[in-house]
Amino acid sequence: MAKQIQAIRGMNDILPTQTPLWQKLESILRASVASYGYAELRTPIVESTDLFKRSIGEVTDIVEKEMYTFADNNGDSLTLRPEGTASTVRAGNQNGLLYNQEQRLWYMGPMFRHERPQKGRYRQFHQFGVEVYGIATADADAEVLMLSARLWETLGIKEHVALEINTLGDSEERAAYRDALIAFLEKHIDVLDEDAKRRMYSNPLRVLDTKNQDIQAILVDAPELMDYLGDDSKQHFSQLCELLDTVGIQYTVNPRLVRGLDYYNRTVFEWVTSSLGAQGTVLAGGRYDGLVSQLGGKDSPAVGFAMGIERIILLLQELGLDQDVAPIVDVYVTAMRAGCYPHAVQIAENLRESLPSLRVMSHCGGGNFKKQMKRADKSGAQFALIIGENELANNEVGVKDLRGGNEQQMVARDELAAFLRERI
Ligand code: ATP
Ligand code: MG
Repeated sequence: MAKQIQAIRGMNDILPTQTPLWQKLESILRASVASYGYAELRTPIVESTDLFKRSIGEVTDIVEKEMYTFADNNGDSLTLRPEGTASTVRAGNQNGLLYNQEQRLWYMGPMFRHERPQKGRYRQFHQFGVEVYGIATADADAEVLMLSARLWETLGIKEHVALEINTLGDSEERAAYRDALIAFLEKHIDVLDEDAKRRMYSNPLRVLDTKNQDIQAILVDAPELMDYLGDDSKQHFSQLCELLDTVGIQYTVNPRLVRGLDYYNRTVFEWVTSSLGAQGTVLAGGRYDGLVSQLGGKDSPAVGFAMGIERIILLLQELGLDQDVAPIVDVYVTAMRAGCYPHAVQIAENLRESLPSLRVMSHCGGGNFKKQMKRADKSGAQFALIIGENELANNEVGVKDLRGGNEQQMVARDELAAFLRERI
């Protein structure tokens, strides 16, 4: 036999047994953004490499080591998108969506990062995200958090995720803090790893985002950005906290939460779970008021988040919430004999015509009746329709409830659609 070709490591097939859960989650995501009046934006998978370098930042995990970058045939450097925000701003600027306007947008699709594959961390993964433009006040920050909190409620995982928030202030405030942080890190140079040593002068806040537990331990005593904030930033943060209190969203303030991307200012947040091991962040985001102009547009405030779809799927599975996903077929149509087959096909087509939402699978490929009934059972359908010579002669269809254990019953052909509509 010829050698099989394998998928790229960290890039997964989503199999037919898994897609019903994905589809269910996706439809809940769509409904959640619809109920807040957000519009969908779809952007290309591939963008100019410069877009991500200029937005995410040169001294970040993503740009330093995780991007799938390649030269196009004409020599342009292209990159498979590692996240959605940069593309959204690029598309917004290019199409005049952000110029003196408010926008509430959402997107969903595959992202690509060259990371070490493990549970909850893949090289092709999927994000669902929202981005709000043109609103500088904390009510927009609160709105995207309300949207996410409502999502957990709808998915039944509210008890298993917790919200952490922080504020990064504005760039001048961060600059003042930066010096204090560098001075602190210099005192602990012996504990720092290569990444931290390299970043402590180019981008010291990144060190706060480390996954190295020894460094995390010393950071407990690091100076806190909160102490360097001016009145406007403080007020923005306290307004956000008040709004969250008003609508009853619980949170903890984590002063070391900085996020791994450069474009954030003021609000940053993460929803985390303890049910997925090390890959515990299921949704993350914040405010990025500088990015629109940094990418060539007219200054526009912005706030948004991205959710890792795989991690939500894992969490649903972990919690046993993937069980009630409906089978994909309602009715399976069988023919007792080859001569009955054309009639069975016609009956199936008539049903699809009169009940467009009914999911009807027709048996194909012949075989004896027993085999056909086995297929019917395996399809997950609730009813098998049985079309035989007697049934045809009487203008009837045999209907067997595959899940109810009842005897087969005869239903007049012209009452079949009504019969099924009542029961499915
Ligand atoms: P992490 O700290 O886990 O690496 P991140 O800070 O790189 O996450 P973001 O860029 O903020 O993640 O992306 C938002 C969300 O997308 C994450 O919280 C996570 O749920 C998901 N995500 C990020 N990278 C991956 C990946 N490689 N595989 C699966 N999901 C991912
Ligand atoms: Mg990462």
